Amino acid sequence: MNINQNYLNLKDSYLFFTIAKKVQEYQAAHPEDEVIRLGIGDVTLPLVPAVTGAMSKAVAEMDDAATFKGYDEYQGYDFLKQAVCGYYAKKGVRLGIDEVFISDGAKSDLGNILDIFSTDNTVLIPDPVYPVYVDTNIMAGRTIKFLNGTDGNSFLPLPEADTAGDIVYLCSPNNPTGAVYSKEQLQLWVNWAKENDAVLLVDSAYEIFIKDPSLPTSIYQIEGAKECAIEFCSLSKTAGFTGTRCGYTVVPQALIRNDTPLNKLWRRRQSTKFNGVPYIVQRGAEAVFTETGFAQIKESIDYYLENARMIAATLTSLGIPFTGGSNSPYIWLQCPNGLSSWEFFDFLLSKYNIVGTPGAGFGENGEGFFRLTAFGSRENVMKAMERLKSMKP
Ligand code: PLP
Repeated sequence: MNINQNYLNLKDSYLFFTIAKKVQEYQAAHPEDEVIRLGIGDVTLPLVPAVTGAMSKAVAEMDDAATFKGYDEYQGYDFLKQAVCGYYAKKGVRLGIDEVFISDGAKSDLGNILDIFSTDNTVLIPDPVYPVYVDTNIMAGRTIKFLNGTDGNSFLPLPEADTAGDIVYLCSPNNPTGAVYSKEQLQLWVNWAKENDAVLLVDSAYEIFIKDPSLPTSIYQIEGAKECAIEFCSLSKTAGFTGTRCGYTVVPQALIRNDTPLNKLWRRRQSTKFNGVPYIVQRGAEAVFTETGFAQIKESIDYYLENARMIAATLTSLGIPFTGGSNSPYIWLQCPNGLSSWEFFDFLLSKYNIVGTPGAGFGENGEGFFRLTAFGSRENVMKAMERLKSMKP
């Protein structure tokens, strides 16, 4: 018996544990201080009435043998896949219902998709980025090369003359930097992927935050993308489903490698290892895409975006450089006075009682940077910004 030795190559993830411990210690030592958390990656607004109403109706259906639902088809109910296709149609993207796969969230699909690729592929992963891409590939023993996101490229790495790899992750709007790729930049990645027979794994978990109409909200708005890209979407941040769990992944029929449609492989993988998302949750998800549901979730998104705008405005007034803050719930700032990510964390906590996330937790290029999020309450954001205004960078 041998374990998967690749797991031993994973770095222990101390980031959120260390943050929690430091905050706990600080609060124990200063019980009178009110600590404000601007580091949370979870939503705080509740599900909207259209969603909870649809879920309540679905619960009632489960109470009656005539309408009770057991196992779903593994790919999701047609009503939800159709709703997703309708959402894409509004973006100018035509999808077949068989190209949409309903999931219990983007994280699982981002990890599970690797099942359909050979472990001898080389993967290209932006740095800094959501850590799941790196860890899932380490678990599989794949060779990882990093795409450097820096100040110089506004944290939006692009293919270069010597860029070589088989699988490329793109995350736009990016977690943690809030940076968003333009159509022209994504076109460069699509062209590169087609020329190199590579596959793009595009994480669009935050697409709903994009307000600038010139920025793409789906990779399939880019010419040729259906032949080289898989897109991962989530209702977690879109509609507050972080605890309810629902997302969707698009695998176009036109995406063929080794004479095999990847759609067929993913369907086979899902039908073998996944038994679907609860009917009640899928009915709630369907409601997100109705006119009423969409108007309600838009209010929550606008609330978070206003928080982001306020944080960005404060940083601008302090002269602290940052990315994100618009078209994204994340604000990625350069730690003032050359402080390291953790030094700035300690400084913010002890001086202003504000908690954020040290950029070093998102990759080597995150050192010297810091992530704030817009998912807190308005009241807390206002209080925190008032405190920061006195900061002298
Ligand atoms: N992708 C990115 C970039 C994220 O930041 C997150 C969650 O924080 C996810 C995916 C996971 O989404 P889900 O809740 O749908 O699993």
